[in-house]
Amino acid sequence: MTIVTRFPPSPTGFMHIGTARTGLFNWLYAKHNKGKMRFRIEDTDRARHSEAAVEAIINGLKWLEIDWDGDIISQYACGARHTEIAHELVKRGEAYYCYCTPDELEKMRESAKAEGRIASYDRRWRDSKNTPPAGIKPVIRIKAPLSGEQLVNDKVQGEVRVNAEQLDDFIILRSDGVPTYMLAVVVDDHDMGVTHVIRGDDHFNNTFRQNVIYQAMGWDIPVYAHLPLILGPDGAKLSKRHGATGVEEYRNLGYLPEAMRNYLLRLCWSHGDDEIISTEQAIEWFDFDGIGKSPARFDFDKLNFINSHYMKLADNNRLVDLSLDILNRVGHSYSPSTKKYLFAAMDELKTRAKTIAGLVDDSRIYWMTGAITMDEKAAALLDVAGIAIVKKLGVALKNLSNFDNANIELACKAIGESEGVKLGKVMMPLRAALTGTTSSPSLFHAIEILGKDEVLRRIEQSI
Ligand code: GLU
Repeated sequence: MTIVTRFPPSPTGFMHIGTARTGLFNWLYAKHNKGKMRFRIEDTDRARHSEAAVEAIINGLKWLEIDWDGDIISQYACGARHTEIAHELVKRGEAYYCYCTPDELEKMRESAKAEGRIASYDRRWRDSKNTPPAGIKPVIRIKAPLSGEQLVNDKVQGEVRVNAEQLDDFIILRSDGVPTYMLAVVVDDHDMGVTHVIRGDDHFNNTFRQNVIYQAMGWDIPVYAHLPLILGPDGAKLSKRHGATGVEEYRNLGYLPEAMRNYLLRLCWSHGDDEIISTEQAIEWFDFDGIGKSPARFDFDKLNFINSHYMKLADNNRLVDLSLDILNRVGHSYSPSTKKYLFAAMDELKTRAKTIAGLVDDSRIYWMTGAITMDEKAAALLDVAGIAIVKKLGVALKNLSNFDNANIELACKAIGESEGVKLGKVMMPLRAALTGTTSSPSLFHAIEILGKDEVLRRIEQSI
């Protein structure tokens, strides 16, 4: 049997971290078992539908480098098939038309509440021989079992049972002819050949109802694995309050997709104490046994740790391009030499930063253009004494014939000695003059990378 998983997000406008984890787990499970993962967009909420929201989901998945098998299925486009199955169930005697008015339903709800019953609909049309009232468009309800219990043997949550009394004859086709979510999911999963349903445990309760439909159609019930929630660091449901909740935000902050996959994998799944797990390794190891039952807490420090690990491994050209992407996105102008500078400095830069955005911040010396604006601390370093030192450094650097790291360092040291000050006292005003700030990557190397002309231009301008 080929294992077929599925990723069926609702297009809410962005890809939530929890949705991304669901996608990743379905993908890994399929890959591990040499199966397939299908991709369906649950786009039946037409009032809120937008193509941009669909794109956001597709782009999120693509960015994570998670692929899928076959075409992307639109649930909305399968509406006729859902309706067909609803009528088929009526024909088989597994479902029926119900003509209750809103008033009647409200009364049933009230008495169920008063008697402490969960299911409120009293099934009055289930086996009714009454003539349907005129002028009422019926809904179609499924015949849920009247007695016994329903069992779900979940791969994560274990065996969970409910009594038949807790299930009502729920609606599968509304009176306006629109299929319900419960019906659509089952029909689509069946038609797409889904064998394994891996999803958030907020859908666990739907499982019992969905199984009623599978049974009524005589279809194979899939294997279920319901994943615990993802919480914020404080144990409350992960929300904007905790930080970024959308995959796109992590992309914009400069996290790498391979780091994101590694981090998402660790939200409720473990393999011993391993933290750094490559995608190849994850595919080899991924199984339901590694999924824990308790919710995961989002840990930003761990994500940063994992991201910095993958940044160190990443190709320098790629990191340069990602840095330029950020500069472009925030609308920063940068010099034509920036790409060259960043590439030359990347071995050092990538060991210091936790994210690409952090790397861009650290590497300001390489992308700043035009007039140097001084921050307060830098300006204070360029007092009369500071300027005098920077001027002398400018002359010494101008006279250097070998403009490399080692010679630049020697020249700076020589100025320190002749001035009778420590090297730090020499470098601090120089850094201020070259960057307008008091921080930069290793300065000798940066001076070599910027080259003599650019360094002298900046010194000239700052003093
Ligand atoms: N569309 C649902 C969601 O985005 C998923 C439904 C399912 O997995 O059955 O939460």
